[in-house]
Amino acid sequence: MTVFDKLSAERRNRLVAERRLAERTTECAALRQRLSELETMLATLRQTPHDPATETRLKAELDAQRQRARVAAATAERTAMMAERRLWDSINTVNDGFAVFDSDHRLVIANQSYLRPLSGFSGGATGASAIELLQFVAHEGRVVLNGQSPQDWIKIMYARWDHDPIEPVVMTFVDGPTMRVMERRARGGDIVVLVRDITESSRKEAQLRDASLRAEAANRAKSAFLANMSHEIRTPMNGVMGMAELLADTPLSEEQRLYAETIRSSAEALLGVINDVLDFSKIEADKLTLHPEPLDLERCVHDVLMLLQAGAQKRRIDLLLDYDLFLPTTFLSDPGRLRQILTNLLGNAVKFTEQGHVLIRVTGMDMGAGVHQVTVTVEDTGIGIAPENAEHIFAEFSQVEDQANRKFEGTGLGLAITRRLIELMGGQIWVESELGRGSCFGFTLPLKLAEGGAPVATPGAMPKLVMVVDDHQINRMILERHLEAQGIAVISCACATQALERLTAPGAPRPDLVLTDHEMPGMSGLDLVCQLRAAGVDLPVVMLSSSAAMARDHPGIAHLRAVMQKPVLRRDLLRQLGPATTAAQSPPHAPDPPRPEGGATDPCARRMVLLVAEDNRTNQLVLSRMLSELEVELHFAQDGQQAIDLFTKLKPDLIFMDISMPVLDGREATRRIRQLPGGAQVAIVALTAHAMQGDRDEIMRAGLDDYLTKPLRKPALHQMLEQHRPSIARPPLRDAG
Ligand code: ADP
Repeated sequence: MTVFDKLSAERRNRLVAERRLAERTTECAALRQRLSELETMLATLRQTPHDPATETRLKAELDAQRQRARVAAATAERTAMMAERRLWDSINTVNDGFAVFDSDHRLVIANQSYLRPLSGFSGGATGASAIELLQFVAHEGRVVLNGQSPQDWIKIMYARWDHDPIEPVVMTFVDGPTMRVMERRARGGDIVVLVRDITESSRKEAQLRDASLRAEAANRAKSAFLANMSHEIRTPMNGVMGMAELLADTPLSEEQRLYAETIRSSAEALLGVINDVLDFSKIEADKLTLHPEPLDLERCVHDVLMLLQAGAQKRRIDLLLDYDLFLPTTFLSDPGRLRQILTNLLGNAVKFTEQGHVLIRVTGMDMGAGVHQVTVTVEDTGIGIAPENAEHIFAEFSQVEDQANRKFEGTGLGLAITRRLIELMGGQIWVESELGRGSCFGFTLPLKLAEGGAPVATPGAMPKLVMVVDDHQINRMILERHLEAQGIAVISCACATQALERLTAPGAPRPDLVLTDHEMPGMSGLDLVCQLRAAGVDLPVVMLSSSAAMARDHPGIAHLRAVMQKPVLRRDLLRQLGPATTAAQSPPHAPDPPRPEGGATDPCARRMVLLVAEDNRTNQLVLSRMLSELEVELHFAQDGQQAIDLFTKLKPDLIFMDISMPVLDGREATRRIRQLPGGAQVAIVALTAHAMQGDRDEIMRAGLDDYLTKPLRKPALHQMLEQHRPSIARPPLRDAG
């Protein structure tokens, strides 16, 4: 039976006893009343003429009445005493202390539990003042004072009674129990005190605190384990992926190519899983922090689309970008995390779409104070999601379990991470989908404008009339809107044949420029330009292509002003539409991996000098093969010390620095190189398998300029070279320039 059960049972008993006492008291009063009536009657009778018979009868009656009244009074008194005793017995049986102080703060009544720590109080505690009782327990060492002096403790405890309500307080007695003291003011200024024994619950609380500390320690150990595992797995993965990529570049039979490709794609999938699990455990451990910096949102979306372009192209899915005309592009956000969100949503859209298109729209609303509520939607024409599954897909390890779905790889963590990241950034994510028709994932983010975040400005004079040729209606619409926003009139054609007819018809309006899609049913953009030239139409033609590389060998390429990789950035498009200056003389070429503008093209310029500090033989081999097709002078250092020596000797343009190396690690080697003449200027890029949160910051603090995680990928390496190439060095890609 719990304390509460006991208390309530005793309360019931007490109420019954009190009720009986009241009944008996009422009965007693009634009897006394009756008695006095009879006595009055007797007196009256005494005065009436004497009748011995009547007198005897009345006397007997009176005696009987007296006797009954005595018995009733005795019974009522006994019942009242029993009720009181029962009440006190029950109050004394509970472990909790109970006491009542009067308005002068003197103890009126208290149960045994309350009096226990006061045993030995001279003259008995009842009648003593509260302050005397506090002094007794403090000075007699009955209570733990938690480092306070007895005077301070008494003052604090007694001062509590000045407040209403009186705040409860916890006291630990030296003989063990921990008590919560609760006081209430009663009518007439009395103070009722209840002292609850909370020893057991405090012990449980302490146990919980202890368990939570242990869990936190275990969590830290888990994070450290994950960091180590991540490092350990990434290092050999570099070998697997790098070698598979290199193998795929050698002459192979179809079967061998298939094997090499499978190794590469499986390794990539495995890496994706490792990254997802790492990210997820970081978010779980609340370790993920955002690093906002100014970023070009339009370019960020564009970069992600470009990365997915190859996969989409294989399946002939159109990737379309529609960036709000009036939305600025430069915002403050964490670029890495934003790219991760976009990659997941766009990657899923491409993955789950067999044909049609994936359209990403970016719109925004100015919320004032430099903040825009940016909404991004990713719409696909893929397999869609049934309504009953749509709610679950944002949960961890959740995938739609059906035939159409399970042929796709994945961990089911991507959307869970995406949702958490968006929420961390103060936004929300949702999905609308119809099975078999496609899905639309959307999210909003409040983004702060960064410096220079104005909408795209028009670069110089623009053509007045442009013909847009594209079989894809949405694409045509996006282009029309962008052009019209610049004050350019548009003639739209849904196919090349229609465009050819219009441009060769006598008296037809002549646009200043033709903007054509590459691959279209019937006639391609390249065939269109050939036909136009054959018909003597000499208009400038710009082609937008999803697979610019495929256009290289077509004769039409020579007649184009430019080929632009789809989807195009508005500012790049506007630049191409501007007055044809150099473009008219220089033949167009299909774009290669991104290059900064204004690069050196002087054939006499020297080769770029590269120093790679890497102790692992396999990684050295992978790197040298990945860079073999480039025009660079490559040197290897086996450890950090050698890297310093070779730096002094070679004065390289760029150093790729492994972080974990024998003799001297990459951080220390970088610090020392920075102290050497010319060391402050040289670009140093970390190559590392440390991919956990915080690793990047920690490594960058050692003075590195950039950071590449293993397994290394050729495009990322090439991009680093371009980014850090000094203008006096030749572009490393042979056909670049
Ligand atoms: P996964 O790694 O499996 O892709 P995600 O968390 O990214 O994990 O997605 C969870 C599940 O949601 C997917 O397995 C798929 O069933 C469904 N899903 C996500 N995006 C789409 C989409 N665009 N179209 C159809 N289904 C989707």
